Amino acid sequence: MQVSFDNSYINLPEHFYQKVLPSPVTNPQLIKFNYALANELGLQFTSEDNLAEIFSGNKILNGSEPIAMAYAGHQFGHFVPQLGDGRAILLGEVIDINQKRKDIQLKGSGQTAFSRRGDGRAWLGPVLREHVVSEAMHSLGVPTTRALAAVGTGEKVYREQGALPGAIITRVASSHIRIGTFEYFFARKDFEALETLLNYVIARHYPELENSENKALDFLQALAKRQADLIIKWLSLGFVHGVMNTDNCSISGETIDYGPCAFMDSYDPNTVFSSIDHQGRYAYQNQVNICLWNISCLASTLLQMIDKDEKLAIEKCNGVFAFYKKYFDDNYTKVFLNKIGIFEIHEEDFVLVQDLLEMMFRLKADFSLSFRYLAKVLNSDEQSFVGLFENYHANKQIIDIWLDRWRQRLAQQSLSIEEIIAKMNLINPAYIPRNHLVEEMISKAYLENDFSVMNDLLECFKNPFQEQECFSHFMQAVDSKTNNYVTFCGT
Ligand code: AMP
Ligand code: MG
Repeated sequence: MQVSFDNSYINLPEHFYQKVLPSPVTNPQLIKFNYALANELGLQFTSEDNLAEIFSGNKILNGSEPIAMAYAGHQFGHFVPQLGDGRAILLGEVIDINQKRKDIQLKGSGQTAFSRRGDGRAWLGPVLREHVVSEAMHSLGVPTTRALAAVGTGEKVYREQGALPGAIITRVASSHIRIGTFEYFFARKDFEALETLLNYVIARHYPELENSENKALDFLQALAKRQADLIIKWLSLGFVHGVMNTDNCSISGETIDYGPCAFMDSYDPNTVFSSIDHQGRYAYQNQVNICLWNISCLASTLLQMIDKDEKLAIEKCNGVFAFYKKYFDDNYTKVFLNKIGIFEIHEEDFVLVQDLLEMMFRLKADFSLSFRYLAKVLNSDEQSFVGLFENYHANKQIIDIWLDRWRQRLAQQSLSIEEIIAKMNLINPAYIPRNHLVEEMISKAYLENDFSVMNDLLECFKNPFQEQECFSHFMQAVDSKTNNYVTFCGT
């Protein structure tokens, strides 16, 4: 395999990372390779290549300069001055066919200087989850890290559940720089490193700010905008990230770290899946505020560069926070109005969204299908939509009143009904990686060495906005009336 590595992070000062090789594994087996992504990255391979050897870290390719990156982070609100890649190793960077710089990273590849008490490994379940969910998110139009390969190691890893099969995922990202990377240097009062990092980040991710008069401030605002867009995408899909610590908040604006993440079935704004999130810090509806909290952590590290006068610097940051809130509100409103087929927007329309969400919450309607089936109402199929609501016979009148108001509003638009349906179906997916599907995929793979569910899901999620006859069973919620799914961080 030929990879034209073009590594840049390694040219930063040595205390930004540790040079470290992946720890070899005994019996690597290729589970999945993403050929389409490999082509996008410009990787050149032949049938002779042993992909399992390469993407387990057993074979290091020419030009690869493996490093573990240093970072810190606020975990559930508490600052940890040193985290870093404890089980991930950056193999190097490539320039893809779209001229975009991409990191290629192994996760689960053994211990590094940042492993603390961890074994540096991952087990099969989370590797498959990240592989399928991140690829689905990509097809759903959400900025995200991608999955290039999944490899079984042939070794056991030990977790709460006992001995489990080990695996490694190859993750591709615009970069792995996080808010926590800035916090790492700030905690050490290393202002020279902070400035170096800021300049690197601007050149790599925000080149339009290269000539800005106040790079730090403009970067903060540009990042706030990207993060707001990201959270709106998550919310519009019912996605709960689950562990929005500052070390899991990417500077590039991509979704990163699919640990305890999950999608909502029935709509409840307080949905939390993670077993350790007792306070609901990272609940569905808190994600917008937590993101702002994370941005404020980044702001703290930039203050000195924003203005030498701390009071003025804080004022300027407050301006960014106000911008974030307004930008979020405006765009969230627009996206949710679009979801219900309103494209010529008036401010007062939002009450329709609020009333629908309220009804979905009270009557435990499936989040994704409520929006998807709304378009069917316009195609003379009201039953699919109405049937999503608990006791819909008893509540038919309330639902009908809402539908009438909604139809009247749609009729005021210049768009035809066919145009509205087509536009809605491009926004409201038929398929999301439902929790029971992800679980079924993992247990089949783990207990029966059967990867057919994974393959089917990956195939289906290539076109999540298109109803596909052969995958109709993937559309259904198992039981949309209950939301008691729990995810675990013990990855
Ligand atoms: P995460 O929860 O995956 O975002 O990881 C938080 C921190 O814990 C990061 O510094 C990881 O590198 C580290 N970590 C998580 N799992 C392991 C592990 N099995 N071995 C070593 N470090 C780990
Ligand atoms: Mg992480």
